[in-house]
Amino acid sequence: MPQLGFGVWQVSDDEATKAVGTALEAGYRSIDTAAAYENEKGTGEAIRAAGLPREELFVTTKLWNSEQGYDSALRAFDSSLDRLGLDYVDLYLIHWPLPAKDAYVDTYKAFEKVLSEGRAKAIGVSNFLPEHLDRLIQETSVVPAVNQIELHPQLQQAESRAFHARHGIATEAWSPLGQGKGLLDVPAVRAIAQKHDRTPAQVVLRWHLQLGNVVIPKSVTPSRIRENIDVFGFELDQDDLAGLAALDEGKRLGPDPATFDLDS
Ligand code: NAD
Repeated sequence: MPQLGFGVWQVSDDEATKAVGTALEAGYRSIDTAAAYENEKGTGEAIRAAGLPREELFVTTKLWNSEQGYDSALRAFDSSLDRLGLDYVDLYLIHWPLPAKDAYVDTYKAFEKVLSEGRAKAIGVSNFLPEHLDRLIQETSVVPAVNQIELHPQLQQAESRAFHARHGIATEAWSPLGQGKGLLDVPAVRAIAQKHDRTPAQVVLRWHLQLGNVVIPKSVTPSRIRENIDVFGFELDQDDLAGLAALDEGKRLGPDPATFDLDS
């Protein structure tokens, strides 16, 4: 899985075709969409239009909450593949655990079937807390390849990251730039950016990469799409990393997975 990919949350179907096209041109090879984003069709169109060999691409999509359950997950997977216009996805994720619904184990068993058929090359989860992962690991056969969670310098998720490392699960960071709200204006981030003659977004993405996180920054602005992948030509030093480590304040931008139960 490429360590840096392109996310398309809150991008309309039409915009997704344009933005994913720009991202593929800029060199991204991993795209993160979801049934709930309602842009799998536009994403698939951009992928086909780019004309790249399928095996060079890494396409992730996610099962929405209302489709949890064994049979409904199988049907939802077929619909996602149809909308994407692909024969397989590289990674299929359960979008949220919905612990009160208590259906993620059955849902994941459907994912194991799709994996065994080769229609998903890997399966995993999103927004799972260690307690949910523990239960999956005990009650199913395939350890999730990935847990995609909210993670940025203001929400560093030490406990989840340590759990993932112990179990060989890749940590994928959503909202890696803190949704561009506030984080990129923090004086410590700006100072590190100035020191390296880089932008605050590039510094934050570099921090993720050096920590070992997979990142999927989103933008629909071509110059930012290119800026966000241009993060392999510099390195943060120990002082920079310590300065960024100090920004952790447990600040969630999204819902708490323990209580989030939207299933419509
Ligand atoms: P992000 O942290 O990637 O921030 C995106 C925003 O930051 C943009 O809309 C723009 O306003 C700003 N931005 C982007 N590049 C910039 C730059 N170079 N300079 C200045 N500002 C810049 O936030 P996100 O979109 O919430 O998260 C990224 C991806 O993660 C999503 O697109 C989606 O694929 C995924 N995601 C998953 C979940 C989940 O529940 N699994 C939830 C949210 C997001």
